[in-house]
Amino acid sequence: MADGILVVVSGFSGSGKGTLMKKLMSEYDNYALSISATTRSPRKGEKEGREYFFRSKEEFEKLISGDELIEYAMFCNNYYGTPRDYVLEQRKSGKNVILEIEVQGALKIKEKYPDAMLIFITPPDANTLKDRLVNRGTECENDIKARLKQAAWEAGCMSKYDYILINDDLERAAKELNHIIESHGNLKVDS
Ligand code: 5GP
Repeated sequence: MADGILVVVSGFSGSGKGTLMKKLMSEYDNYALSISATTRSPRKGEKEGREYFFRSKEEFEKLISGDELIEYAMFCNNYYGTPRDYVLEQRKSGKNVILEIEVQGALKIKEKYPDAMLIFITPPDANTLKDRLVNRGTECENDIKARLKQAAWEAGCMSKYDYILINDDLERAAKELNHIIESHGNLKVDS
């Protein structure tokens, strides 16, 4: 059986990419979503091993020194990283593995795995981004500011992605995302 595709999905904090990933997982069965480790605190409703593996800084640094992560990055003062074993196992079993990670990690993955697909998810405009970030109510004002600043930096990296997907309508975006992945290699236009 051929290995599954390694799909890296990034997007601004507030782009709705988390909801989009849940939709993709519930509608199609050929995907496995990698669960990252992080040093950030759980948000209300988040569960250990479901959204993230929540780790202390010391524990996370052990994962790094033990070479257990295929990539990691610092985002708004917290570590985030992708455990290696799950990704490799799922790919071997033929599943397309989705890494929902930020830009620095995405570019590291592309370096290590040039056949990985990089997809950037964006809301339709800057106001929608700000509204989503404020209305979800999970971050304090300072964190929102830091995430918007980070988004401005990430916007400059969008051209390094293979595809850019506008998340204006959940149903449509999930269908399009699946179509992009399924058509891997056939849709891409070389620049
Ligand atoms: P949040 O705190 O909102 O859950 O995530 C913050 C950012 O970290 C998001 O852009 C998310 O995609 C990214 N992220 C989550 N897991 C990982 C990971 O394993 N590696 C990297 N590089 N970024 C991650």
